[in-house]
Amino acid sequence: MNLRTLQDLDFVGKKVFLRLDLNVPLKNGVIKDDTRIREAIPTIKYILERTNKVAIASHLGRPDGEVDLNYSLEPVGVRLAELLQRDVVFVNDYMTEPYDQVLGQLDPQQLVLLENLRFNAGETKNDLDFCRQLARGIDLYVNDAFGTAHRAHASTVGVADLLDPNRRAAGLLMEKEIQALGSILNHPEAPFTVIMGGAKVSDKIAVILSLLNRCNHLIIGGAMAYTFLKYKGHAVGSSKVEADRMDLVETIFRNAEARRVQIHLPIDHGCAAAFKEDAVREDIAERAIPAGLMGLDIGPKTVEAYGRVIRNSRTVFWNGPMGVFEWKAFAQGTMDIARAVAACEGRTVVGGGDSVSAANQAGVADKISHVSTGGGAALEFLEGRVLPGIKVLLK
Ligand code: AMP
Repeated sequence: MNLRTLQDLDFVGKKVFLRLDLNVPLKNGVIKDDTRIREAIPTIKYILERTNKVAIASHLGRPDGEVDLNYSLEPVGVRLAELLQRDVVFVNDYMTEPYDQVLGQLDPQQLVLLENLRFNAGETKNDLDFCRQLARGIDLYVNDAFGTAHRAHASTVGVADLLDPNRRAAGLLMEKEIQALGSILNHPEAPFTVIMGGAKVSDKIAVILSLLNRCNHLIIGGAMAYTFLKYKGHAVGSSKVEADRMDLVETIFRNAEARRVQIHLPIDHGCAAAFKEDAVREDIAERAIPAGLMGLDIGPKTVEAYGRVIRNSRTVFWNGPMGVFEWKAFAQGTMDIARAVAACEGRTVVGGGDSVSAANQAGVADKISHVSTGGGAALEFLEGRVLPGIKVLLK
């Protein structure tokens, strides 16, 4: 992928629009986790070493085009100032007052943060007037928000389109994500194992079919495993099954057979009589789940079998939990798989919100080659689509 990166731009003395993902969890104006802010620092510093005329923009939550101060980026500005040891000039209303004038008057120790882009309906609509307002007086466009690259919004596409292609670039995080996910798509070293979990086959069908063209093993866990088992004629008790989507499972098996991909399904289960957090776990040591019980986790024999495949892989991609890992009694399988992925000596990539938090919960995130922060964007990328927010950054 011929991506324009920071090295392709000459920043000295230029005014820069920098789109970041500063969508941090906030409660009553207090930041609960500043990971996204800290991760953005290298790109900000790279640019600040060359110009201080930087306007940072981001969305936060879903205020739906209205000003809702619960979603203000002001607390993020305070944290940014601490981390950068600089003054952050917070620009509230850039629709009536063009912020490029503020950029022109900044002291060397200052930078600009714009209020939540999604306070304006023009952001998600990619409205031309809104884009023009954001692009006014700007020389360079940098996008480091991989998590929103699958959305054609004003700040991810429209503003970029108003500048010449040679004035746009991806930031360091965006570059890293594209490299890591691109290596899974384009030249994964065999054996390549894909681990898919989570709620529904129908949600993940496109990414599964795309990766089936590239992988050697497909490991299935989570609720979607019971749709596969049911299709194969096994008893699944009262487990969640997408009974009307058996066609998808059939397509997956047909494609796997044509490409000689081995599909692995659970051989034992952690079950319960009801879908409740305080339900008592009952381990079923065989493939068939008795009537009246539902599968909420993979069992120890499955963990063992999956672990063997994972250990022998040179490339692993994991998305989606192996069970209802939010509930302690049913988290074991997901935690064990997180550890197995971390122990694999090949290249390992984890993507999608739940598997990322599972890797963190198991304390192994730092032993994984790449932990993708862009949930939906990562999956769309792996479907083989060219994301609109990346397309505008190509040479
Ligand atoms: P997804 O967003 O598609 O990756 O799905 C994640 C969700 O699937 C999590 O909230 C899990 O609790 C849920 N899930 C995983 N396994 C099961 C299961 N066996 N039964 C019901 N829900 C499950």
